[in-house]
Amino acid sequence: MTDTVNRQILLVEKPAGKLGPEHFRLSATAVPEPKDGEALLRVRYISLDAANRAWMHGATYRAAVETNTVMAGGGLAEVVSSKAAELAPGDIVFGDTGWQDYAAVPAKHLTKLPRIEPLTHLLSIYGIAGLTAYFGLLEIGKPKAGDTVVVSAAAGSVGSIVGQIAGIRGCRVIGIAGGKDKCHWLTAELGFDAAVDYKDAALFRQIKAAAPKGIDVYFDNVGGDILEACLPQMNNHGRIACCGAISQYDGAPSPHGPRGVPGLIVVKRLIMQGFIVMDFMDRRDQATADLQTWVSSGKLKVQEDVIDGLENTPRALIGLLAGENRGKRMIRV
Ligand code: NDP
Repeated sequence: MTDTVNRQILLVEKPAGKLGPEHFRLSATAVPEPKDGEALLRVRYISLDAANRAWMHGATYRAAVETNTVMAGGGLAEVVSSKAAELAPGDIVFGDTGWQDYAAVPAKHLTKLPRIEPLTHLLSIYGIAGLTAYFGLLEIGKPKAGDTVVVSAAAGSVGSIVGQIAGIRGCRVIGIAGGKDKCHWLTAELGFDAAVDYKDAALFRQIKAAAPKGIDVYFDNVGGDILEACLPQMNNHGRIACCGAISQYDGAPSPHGPRGVPGLIVVKRLIMQGFIVMDFMDRRDQATADLQTWVSSGKLKVQEDVIDGLENTPRALIGLLAGENRGKRMIRV
């Protein structure tokens, strides 16, 4: 039976500096009625993404989130009732459900997914995180066996998968993450060849020691100082896959950032390319099949960080931006 009350988390103020709990409010309204072409969804899991914070700054690859609206966010949901021919009660879908218990969403904005167990894998390894890692590394980074691959935010959802896929492809893999514990986890548990703590002052020297032959592929999740430290260490014809810029999302933009970029790109013949995972969705089945093979053979470990309770979603995002998470963080609603 459907509840009558829909709990929602609203963004009530756009943060000028760091995101805090005061920027959100828990509210309650009636469960919506789906219109023609829409499905009523019961949200099961909400994906926490660094990009949620970037959406508060302004338009990105999607419109900005405005104040006094339901906070936007990807969710895994079950269809409760449908006024769209292509969806039926019980179907599992992914879409921008927002941070709420129920959502009425046009079917054309939803992706119907197979009901696999555990369902959480549809948000982590077979969701945006896994697909971003897969396409960003293989299509933009184009690693070859023997290459040195460096990935930042390496203990996060995208980064932890990037590093493991690079290892599967026979590369030397170096992860950059915050703190000794995360670095140890990357090498001891996920099979990275080396890990560098970016909170240590000697970042440049640490990367050089870990990558004595230089960097062939840098998978950049963070931008800023870490990108600046990697750029001069790129080998000729190296590739930089620009996936995100998390160092710039929360608070005032850093006054630092990569300097000397054009000269280095020319002299080293680098390719530096941004991408959005949605551009590759027509090849999702191929990626999912490869990821499933690696997961079932034990070559790729799936790390999830599941927090209970819709009311904890703001805290979970604030914590993700502060580096609390290992692997894919999500809320079980
Ligand atoms: P993660 O699970 O990777 O979590 C974010 C991690 O970033 C934190 O755990 C933290 O770990 C690290 N971090 C936070 N602040 C900084 C900083 N200033 N410098 C370095 N590291 C920092 O998040 P997501 O998987 O959601 O996102 C990873 C990246 O992928 C983001 O840039 C995101 O925008 C991007 N992305 C891009 C997509 C695309 O299509 N291009 C699709 C999906 C994601 P630590 O403890 O190591 O600091």
